[in-house]
Amino acid sequence: MNLVLFGPPGAGKGTQAKLLTEQRGLPQLSTGDMLRAAIAAETALGLECKAIMVRGDLVSDAIVIGIIAERLGGPDCAGGAIFDGFPRTIAQAEALDRLLNSLGKQIDLAIELKVNDEVLIARSENRVKEMIAAGQAPRADDTPETLRNRLDVYYRNTAPLIAYYRNQGKLETVDGMAPIPEVAKSIAALLDGAA
Ligand code: AMP
Repeated sequence: MNLVLFGPPGAGKGTQAKLLTEQRGLPQLSTGDMLRAAIAAETALGLECKAIMVRGDLVSDAIVIGIIAERLGGPDCAGGAIFDGFPRTIAQAEALDRLLNSLGKQIDLAIELKVNDEVLIARSENRVKEMIAAGQAPRADDTPETLRNRLDVYYRNTAPLIAYYRNQGKLETVDGMAPIPEVAKSIAALLDGAA
């Protein structure tokens, strides 16, 4: 099962992807996590992406497609994967289709987590407060200005995936404002239906 989870920043993609990894053993391929790891390790890639990510813009299609192409060849992806935060553009979605096709695979399901902007803004504020309370540094892109930009970038570049996957007959939409266990249940039902 190859599953795409997409939605605006703070929709809960990472949370749901982690639950699915625990429950189904599918690896979570989060380009955001991979890029943050590159920044933490101060690799050339990390240095190239850092300022772009702090602004909340998208790093280039070529970079993220390259990271995913490398990762998809790993043995843990043989039985499928959960794509979390990738694709974020139509060009990325097309590249992912080509990559999977070349491996004799395809995307089985693309789930859009739908959440209102007001809820996303409140979630971001809460996340910052919680991290500060826990003595951790909040994410550099969790400021109100950057969040506004990340939302704009989402609607401009990523929301077209809704039509892309709908046209392929693979789109499902889940209410991402429901409590986490309910969202997980809805996703599980869709996966079981698609299996
Ligand atoms: P995320 O953790 O998924 O919210 O991603 C954090 C940031 O990493 C994004 O705001 C982008 O700057 C960058 N990023 C992650 N995934 C992608 C992608 N598929 N395409 C372009 N940029 C990405």
